[in-house]
Amino acid sequence: MLPIWIATVAWGLGSILWAELVRDLYHAFAHVWQPLYRLHVWHHRVFRPNLTPASEEIYQQAHWRNDVPEALVMLGFGLLWWLGAYLFLPSYHWVAGIGCLYTLCFLGSAIARGSGIPGADRLTDLTHQPGPFATPPSRWFVNRPYHWRHHFDNQNAYFCGTFTFIDKLMGTALSLKGKTVAVTGASGTLGRSLLLHLHEAGAKVIALTSGNEAVALTLESETLEINTVTWQIGQENELAALFEKVDILILNHGMNVNGDRTPEAIANSYQVNAFSSWRLMELFFTTVRTNQDIARKEVWVNTSEAESNPAFSPLYELTKRTLGDLVTLRRLDAPCIVRKLILGPFKSNLNPIGVMSADWVAKQIVKQAKADNRNIIVTINPLTFITFPIKELLNSVYFKLFSRLGTKVSQPSETNQSLP
Ligand SMILES: [Zn+2]
Ligand SMILES: [Zn+2]
Repeated sequence: MLPIWIATVAWGLGSILWAELVRDLYHAFAHVWQPLYRLHVWHHRVFRPNLTPASEEIYQQAHWRNDVPEALVMLGFGLLWWLGAYLFLPSYHWVAGIGCLYTLCFLGSAIARGSGIPGADRLTDLTHQPGPFATPPSRWFVNRPYHWRHHFDNQNAYFCGTFTFIDKLMGTALSLKGKTVAVTGASGTLGRSLLLHLHEAGAKVIALTSGNEAVALTLESETLEINTVTWQIGQENELAALFEKVDILILNHGMNVNGDRTPEAIANSYQVNAFSSWRLMELFFTTVRTNQDIARKEVWVNTSEAESNPAFSPLYELTKRTLGDLVTLRRLDAPCIVRKLILGPFKSNLNPIGVMSADWVAKQIVKQAKADNRNIIVTINPLTFITFPIKELLNSVYFKLFSRLGTKVSQPSETNQSLP
């Protein structure tokens, strides 16, 4: 038997989670069941892309047709939860009433907004406030940029109202449909597989490659020519105009000099694996300016499992660790979502003895991105699931405590200059 206090807390907290679960499922259901959609669509008619209401009348009507019935359904299911508590925990059943109280607050505020009570919208309608977005879509709680995407990116995704959990579970926490996605290293094995799975998820894909040949994908019975753009290491700035139109940039290029440790191998490895990716990421950040950019744009960086585990290729490991650390440092203040791809050994030209297939890895990457995983781990090595999160947490705390954004660039001091 559970100690009584644990059961009491569980029924109490559970009643709030239950209310949110009912709300999110009601919302998702409203998008598939026409009779309900006819009521819900009023909520979608209200807002302009800058989140100001189209008219006061539609704003009020939307609350009577959508928010009030939604809160009533939540209340009905909340009473069922209470009944459950009454049967299983009779002496403390009242605690399950917290969810009903919580829902009554929403019902009250929806009625207030529907009645046009001054200030009710500003005080209670938090995810629809106009004004510049201060942060990218958040990970666990629905903020304004998160919910904005439900209105103006894809109405068949981003259903959650408070916690993002249900979207994560349903794979609707990121929609790739219609997004322009550019992938570096596109002529490589993983690059091609990524292009294919992103294309299948409805994205408009662009191949970025240092090769001269246009990238083509073989679909079931046809060949699909991909919009291919050639770029060179060191000339990242030439992609600035292209990046304005790109929603998601996937930095996936890399090289492996294996056992080579010549000065040239060191220089090349750092340029290709670490610094060119970092420069492209910084260049992409400069294109994030409007609310729409903050809500929609993303960078995904393939830092590889070598970021936290031995790669048996010292320079590959060193340079991928550098890249991983730079991403951890910069994403503390990144203007848009930045994801890391922590990938184990897959079969490719760089690694002919890899065990996973690039196709399977690409499929998992897209699946985890749709669940809004910010650190996408795809590997057969169970250690990575322990070592990577610990390393990432410690590094980001260290970087947060000992670095700042906006400090003056320090001049090299004599001590620095005397270093070898
Ligand atoms: Zn909304
Ligand atoms: Zn909706």
